[in-house]
Amino acid sequence: MKIAMVGSGYVGLVSGACFADFGHEVVCIDKDPGKIAKLKDGVMPIYEPGLAELVESNVKAGRLSFTTDLAEGMADAAAIFIAVGTPSRRGDGHADLTFVYQVAEEVGGNLKTPAVIVTKSTVPVGTGDEVERIVGEQGSGVDFAVVSNPEFLREGAAIGDFKRPDRIVIGADSDLGREVMREVYRPLFLNEAPILFTSRRSAELIKYAANAFLATKITFINEMADLCEKVGANVQDVSRGIGMDNRIGSKFLNAGPGYGGSCFPKDTLALLKTAEDYDSPTRIVEAVVKVNDHRKRAMGRKVIDALGGAENARGKRVALLGLTFKPNTDDMRDSPAIAIAQALVDAGVKVAAYDPEGMELAKPLMPDVEMMDDPYAAIEGADAIALVTEWDAFRALDLDRVKDIAASPVLVDLRNVYRADEMAAKGFTYTSIGRG
Ligand code: NAD
Repeated sequence: MKIAMVGSGYVGLVSGACFADFGHEVVCIDKDPGKIAKLKDGVMPIYEPGLAELVESNVKAGRLSFTTDLAEGMADAAAIFIAVGTPSRRGDGHADLTFVYQVAEEVGGNLKTPAVIVTKSTVPVGTGDEVERIVGEQGSGVDFAVVSNPEFLREGAAIGDFKRPDRIVIGADSDLGREVMREVYRPLFLNEAPILFTSRRSAELIKYAANAFLATKITFINEMADLCEKVGANVQDVSRGIGMDNRIGSKFLNAGPGYGGSCFPKDTLALLKTAEDYDSPTRIVEAVVKVNDHRKRAMGRKVIDALGGAENARGKRVALLGLTFKPNTDDMRDSPAIAIAQALVDAGVKVAAYDPEGMELAKPLMPDVEMMDDPYAAIEGADAIALVTEWDAFRALDLDRVKDIAASPVLVDLRNVYRADEMAAKGFTYTSIGRG
C-alpha cells in the first residue's frame, strides 16, 4: 500500500519509517526544504535512538523516500497522513490548526484517486469535520474519508512505541476509513496489538484525555513530593507504595521539576480551551496547568536557595546538567530547564550548561546561558550544580572529580538520581525532590 506522510518531524518521520519497515511504500513530505535535503543525504533532522538506521535500511530497500512536493508525494496514495505541528496559538492557548488546514486544502486540491486522509497530529474535537469540509470544498469529486489516528509515541523511545504500541486508536465514521486503516496497521494487527475503533470525535478526545491524565499524575506526585519535604517523608517510597496498586500503576509517578515537552503543556491548554468553548469546565486540568507552571520557576528558586538565597546568589555560578525536557531527545519545547535558567539569570547568577543532544536547539532559547562541551566543563568553578534532566551520562558522574573542580560541592538533584547518604558521605551538600 502506498502511504503519504505530510509533515516529517518527530511523529511524521518516525511513523513514516516504521510504516515503511512494515512493508508499505512511504513518501515523507515536508515543506521545509532543509529538512528534506538532509533526509535525502541520510542525515537525521532530529535525535531519536535507532531512527537513522531504520531510515537508511528502508531507503535502501526502496520503500521510503522524501520530497517537498505534496502533489507528487501523495499521488496514488491510499492513505494520506497529516502529521504537521499543532502548537499553542499565540495569545489564547487554543491549538493552532493553520498547518493542518493548509495541508487539507492542498490535499483536497490534488486528490485524483480515492484516499483516506488521516489526522495523526493532535487536534481538538471536531477538527476532522473541518478537514472533511475543506477537502470536499476543493471539489475533486473523488471518493475520500477523513479518519482520526492520534499518535501516542514517546520521544526517546519512539520506534519501540510505534512498533509495539499499548493500543492503536482509530476514529473512523465510514467503511472506507476503517478498511484502509486496517490494511495500514495489518502487521500490528497480526501481532495482536490492541486496535480500538471509535468514532472520529472520540478518537480526537482520547488523545487529549490521555495526555491530561498523565500530566495530572505527574503533577499529583510533584505536590506529594512538596508535602513529603514538609513532613519528613520520602516521595520515592510513597510512589512505590501507591504505584504497586494496579488501579494506580507505577508509571509517571517520578517527582521532578514539572512536565514539559512538545505535548503535555500545549495539549492540556488546548483541552481547557475546548472545555471552555463547550461550557464544560475541566477544573482538575485547570489546576494541573497552574500548579505545573508555578513549579518550573519554583525549581529555579530551589537552586537559588542552595546558593544561600537571593541575597547571596548574584554573581555566583551554577552548572545546569541536562536541558531537554527528558533524556534521549533533543527536543527543547517547553523544557523546565528554560524557566529554571531564566529564574537563575534573573537573580544575577551566571549559568553554564551541558546537554548531550539538546544544546543546539537550546542556544536560541537561553541566550544568557553558556553552553559547554562536557559536564565537567560546566561544573568547573560552579557554586552549585543542578541536575535537571536524567540523562544516563549524569547518573555516574565522577563525584571526586566534581568535588575537586566545583567551587563548592553543592548538588541540587531535581530528578532524584543520587542518594542522600552517598552524597553526604562524599562531602556534598545535597538537595533533591521530596525526600525529607
Ligand atoms: P514537528 O514540529 O517535529 O514536525 C512537524 C513538521 O511538519 C515540520 O517538519 C514542518 O516543517 C512540517 N509541516 C508544517 N506544515 C507543513 C505543510 N503544510 N506541508 C508539509 N509539511 C509541513 O512536530 P511533531 O513533534 O512531529 O508533532 C506533530 C504532531 O504530532 C503534533 O500535533 C503533536 O502534538 C503530535 N504528537 C507529537 C508527539 C511527540 O512526541 N513529538 C507525540 C504524539 C503526538
